[in-house]
Amino acid sequence: MAAILIVEDESDLNHLIRTHLEAEGHAVRQAFDGPTALCLVAEGVPDLVILDWMLPGMDGLAVCRQLRQDHLMPIIMLTARSEEIDRVLGLEVGADDYVLKPFSMRELLARVRAMLRRVALDVRLAESGSPAVTGDASMPPAPGAVTRGPLHIDIANHAVTLAGQALDLTPKEFELLALLAAHPNRAFSREFLVERIWGYPYDGADRTVDSHIVRLRKKLGDLGDKITTVWGVGYRFTE
Ligand code: CA
Repeated sequence: MAAILIVEDESDLNHLIRTHLEAEGHAVRQAFDGPTALCLVAEGVPDLVILDWMLPGMDGLAVCRQLRQDHLMPIIMLTARSEEIDRVLGLEVGADDYVLKPFSMRELLARVRAMLRRVALDVRLAESGSPAVTGDASMPPAPGAVTRGPLHIDIANHAVTLAGQALDLTPKEFELLALLAAHPNRAFSREFLVERIWGYPYDGADRTVDSHIVRLRKKLGDLGDKITTVWGVGYRFTE
């Protein structure tokens, strides 16, 4: 069971989503505009936010940007805008996933479940080990913590420090960094990263990976150069 905030101005849709989430046992709060959503988050931080892009007044992008200043909870955006530029924009401000309108409740619930599972299990990939694109089955599982120079990733506690300073990462950024850093010098394809971290392939997924890498590099500062692009393949963490 999770605490979920729905931010959607279409009240029928908002209530419909609420009904379905409550049927799954979640504790749901509703906002019908951006400012109210921010107030509700200030009162109690939800485990996940479902955020409509097109809201009157303060739009979903502005809400997302505002939330990301202080919070790392997963944010699923609802949007009728499928243009790539919009996806990239949303990712820039820190959304973790998209559901394109119109969508089925079944699809939305699947995304919510996947997101909550990923946050809960976090990088349990560390325990199972992760197959590399090379198909090398002998790759040893990653330990519970990974240290690369000044970078320390505590996988169990979902915490990252850089030269002793806590680094704020979204769930997807964390999973991406943990996976790459746990297996230095191994190249991971974008397809693999999408499957592993987002859980399903979709149009524009490669750009999602790229955009997350850009943000990760930025947050890592000088160490960002460690995440290198492998031409024609994807990315690797260079040690
Ligand atoms: Ca709307």
